[in-house]
Amino acid sequence: MTYANIILPLPLEGLFTYGVPDALASRVQVGVRVRVPLGKSKTYVGIVAEYPVALPASESGVVDNEKKIVYKDILEVLDATPILLPQQLRLWRWISDYYMSPIGDVYKAALPSGLKAEDGYRPRTELYVRLADNFRNERSLTLMIDAMKRASKQVEVLMTYLRLAGVDGVEHLTTETPLREVTREELMNDTHTTIGVIRALSDRKLLVTYEKEVGRLNDNVLPHPEHIKPLNEAQTEAYNQILIQMMGHPVTLLHGVTSSGKTEIYIHLIQKAIDEHKQVLYLLPEIALTVQITERLKAVFGNRLGIYHSKYSDAERVEIWQKQLSTQPYDVILGARSAVFLPFQRLGLVIIDEEHEQSFKQQDPAPRYHARSAAIVLAQMYAGAKTLLGTATPSMETYYNAQQGKYGLVELTRRYKDIHLPAIEVVDVKDLYRRKMMTGPFSPRLLAAVREALKRGEQAILFQNRRGFAPMVECRQCGWVPKCPDCDVSLTYHKNLNVLTCHYCGYTMRVPDECPCCESKDIRGRGYGTEKIEDEIRNILPEARIARMDLDTTRTKNAYERLIYDFSTGKSNLLIGTQMISKGLDFDKVSVVGILNADSMLNYPDFRAYEQAFMMMSQVSGRAGRKGRQGLVILQTKSPELPVIQQVVRNDYRGFYTNLLEERHDFHYPPFYHLVYVYLKHRDENTVNSAGLELGSRLREGFGTRVLGPDKPAVARVKTLSIRKVVLKLENGIDLPRVRQYLRGVLDAMMKDKRYGALQVYYDVDPL
Ligand code: ADP
Ligand code: ZN
Ligand code: ZN
Repeated sequence: MTYANIILPLPLEGLFTYGVPDALASRVQVGVRVRVPLGKSKTYVGIVAEYPVALPASESGVVDNEKKIVYKDILEVLDATPILLPQQLRLWRWISDYYMSPIGDVYKAALPSGLKAEDGYRPRTELYVRLADNFRNERSLTLMIDAMKRASKQVEVLMTYLRLAGVDGVEHLTTETPLREVTREELMNDTHTTIGVIRALSDRKLLVTYEKEVGRLNDNVLPHPEHIKPLNEAQTEAYNQILIQMMGHPVTLLHGVTSSGKTEIYIHLIQKAIDEHKQVLYLLPEIALTVQITERLKAVFGNRLGIYHSKYSDAERVEIWQKQLSTQPYDVILGARSAVFLPFQRLGLVIIDEEHEQSFKQQDPAPRYHARSAAIVLAQMYAGAKTLLGTATPSMETYYNAQQGKYGLVELTRRYKDIHLPAIEVVDVKDLYRRKMMTGPFSPRLLAAVREALKRGEQAILFQNRRGFAPMVECRQCGWVPKCPDCDVSLTYHKNLNVLTCHYCGYTMRVPDECPCCESKDIRGRGYGTEKIEDEIRNILPEARIARMDLDTTRTKNAYERLIYDFSTGKSNLLIGTQMISKGLDFDKVSVVGILNADSMLNYPDFRAYEQAFMMMSQVSGRAGRKGRQGLVILQTKSPELPVIQQVVRNDYRGFYTNLLEERHDFHYPPFYHLVYVYLKHRDENTVNSAGLELGSRLREGFGTRVLGPDKPAVARVKTLSIRKVVLKLENGIDLPRVRQYLRGVLDAMMKDKRYGALQVYYDVDPL
């Protein structure tokens, strides 16, 4: 008897050991899927991680009632060849280890559902028709046609079939004549017939209908390398610098202002990798993966390019996965976060565009991994593979690594064709509010600029980083605020649906007619969400053709593409949106961008607030004036004196970075310290409280002042669970594997305490 260690799709630590029956032994290998029993009657699709293994297993087996470890047998082997390559398995292990989440959770995140469930994937089939073998010669077929004189429609369909199959005429037909495959659909369309006629031809045993597996992937477009645009001088210089930097560094940062042509440089680098028979992984934030970029790449790389993100059906994702394992995998994969899990046989280059984007980090559920880190680790598993990070506003971590010489650094400071960066005007709204000169959230300057732009036939964008109508509703008499019964947050008012909604759990309720505390009817919203902005601007600028882009308006399929299409074709000319509008869009006619409320971003209670605000404002500003003339950004704030505002205005990334770096250093934050958040959740507030206190003091025994908390997070109750957070600040160079081991040890010990039976624990490593 031999044994194998299996990954199961369960949130449990470790691997599971199973026996391998002799009959299956020859087919079990690392990376294949197997069906295994667990518990009384369940079976799971697991993945072989180690085989063969000697007993006793170093990691958990299946423990039976008498606390004896027993090993059940693998029931079935589902794959003839591995669906994971060794590098993918190593990546899973790295993620599980580094982000402290069970490898079963990594499994769940990594594979498309169709591979996780038995029978989860069905190949698409299509019906085809072909001439029966008996009639594949001139004599029999002619005789038959003569006999069919009365059935002229059938004859017509048959002749059409022959034409579609590529037969010149009946007189030339022999068994040797090659027949092109014809789908039943095609034949019916071409002859305007119904199924009946084709059935009649089948009844005569003339045509045979058969089913055939067809791929879902549209791989008909040929590559057109000649569509690659020649680089200008500055871009060529950057391209050459990147190649030089890559020789000396596993990771290189391309810091290039918006519209400098970073994408064009990537395209050249991708082509170079293809010429060297290497594969490329190109990661973008989900939302940036719109038609704009995919069409640009498709035009050059055609069927060498695979696209992998959540808009694709699961079955398509399974087919991309399988293609990656085949003898003709895609040369380039363009994808969002989860594309990092796809198998690559000869990866040579990883490109992470918009590397500063927070959405590269998965928040919930576990594994809470950062795709940028995962992709860098992945590249390092392939000999000679390099990573290129690109952005106009590097994350603090990345820029620090570049400054330290750990990453290569290449800068591109000029926009393509020297289009000017937009002029940014700061409007002090504090003063305007005091003098009652604001119209709702709009300053006179902003309204005038938008009005003029529209009058000139140009477009404008208004940016407000809150969706819904009013972030808060309040009784003007007694101050009562409706809150979510299950979460510790106030409800957001959505006027369209006339409901109050919790953005944490989705709870909704109708707006009460009167205050439940004082019976006053004066209940009003406070603050501005995108919906209210839209409402107000409609009244002020009735001539504007307004579109709104936020989570609420882009829920349905293609809604996002439609909004973009309408705006790029001029059907709409004023776009209101949340940060969604700042991603990967390239509009020609936007001359004015309004940032309505910079303060809401700056006042956010998080150490990353300034970093986020700077990036968001810079990226949103970058939408202004891309072609033709210089754009104008109106930045409304109550704190114009803040250095970060001035840094946005001057496009002073260095100044921003230097300031913030000092602060991060003084207050023990990244890039000088690694953060690990430990979250505890429990229905009962007292239990989670004492668990938090106990965890804090136990960790202090090992880590002293590196431990902060327990604290209540900003939202301390979500979906009826109370939350406590303990923070570890770990200086660079500390032995992280040992820290993780210690942390796990402490929590394992605590969880043995009966009081903490239902306590949920999770980690967020390198939180954002
Ligand atoms: P970035 O990725 O830095 O924001 P892009 O690559 O999107 O910049 O370039 C901005 C615009 O300028 C795009 O429309 C792009 O096609 C065009 N462009 C950039 N470089 C060139 C070039 N060398 N030749 C032709 N067009 C270019
Ligand atoms: Zn009241
Ligand atoms: Zn809620």
